[in-house]
Amino acid sequence: MELWFTEKQTEHFGITAKVRETLVREQTQYQDLAIIDTLEFGRMLVLDDMVMTTEKDEFVYHEMLAHPALATHPNPRRVLVVGGGDGGVIREVLKHPDVEKAVLVDIDGKVIEYSKRFLPGIAGALDDPRVEVLVNDGYMHIHDHKNEYDVIMVDSTEPVGPAVQLFTRGFYQGIYEALREDGIFVAQTDNPWFKAELIKSVNRDVREVFPIVRVYTANIPTYPSGMWTFTMGSKKYDPLEVEESAIPEMDTKYYSPRLHRACFVLPKFVEDLLK
Ligand code: SAM
Repeated sequence: MELWFTEKQTEHFGITAKVRETLVREQTQYQDLAIIDTLEFGRMLVLDDMVMTTEKDEFVYHEMLAHPALATHPNPRRVLVVGGGDGGVIREVLKHPDVEKAVLVDIDGKVIEYSKRFLPGIAGALDDPRVEVLVNDGYMHIHDHKNEYDVIMVDSTEPVGPAVQLFTRGFYQGIYEALREDGIFVAQTDNPWFKAELIKSVNRDVREVFPIVRVYTANIPTYPSGMWTFTMGSKKYDPLEVEESAIPEMDTKYYSPRLHRACFVLPKFVEDLLK
């Protein structure tokens, strides 16, 4: 019998993958967690029936959350990742030659545990000595730390359950205070096809907190609509002013110094959303 997994992306639209095997399925304290092996995209982490990452296309999201902000900061030594328990963003952060310490704060220890076990190519970097892994609420962590990080990345689930408060103005204000005086923040901010209102409200809130705000996109086949946005808030440095030659060469598959500027060029309907 054929088994297919469908993420219902709206009431009337979804994305479907043929399943070879379900490796784990568990109701954790915070969410329904599954890791399934799909025929087309390899192993897939699914939380509350939403695709979080897959072995085949994970590099796009993880590189694009990490590198534009790291390349914009001239010396990103101390980095915080909120969420991101699968370890993919941390793996990318550690590729940057200036990074000395990376802290990961995910609320759900089960995501970390099962990612290490079933997604070692993504989660392997969590065991690096430069990494500190904390199982805690990112909102609490942010409000307990001041003037500490050069770059903060928010790799959260959609704004449901424990992630709701990670999409609020109060959270962005806390991030501003947890950053050093020239710090940079970046968050995944969903897609403009089905979540236009969310992108608008995040953009409005981040603008109230940070003087420089830029939005960029990447193409991610297994995320709703395939087009994903990221929102960057910066205290001092503008990602559009970064010289290509100043960006370190790293072992990446999507991000490159040439793409750095290009990813900030938005389709007109996305530009219009942000006006
Ligand atoms: N890349 C994914 C996406 O956009 O589909 C998200 C990656 S997934 C690893 C996001 C993580 O955020 C989950 O492991 C979840 O446990 C974590 N998370 C949700 N709310 C959180 C909170 N308040 N504090 C810290 N981590 C949180």
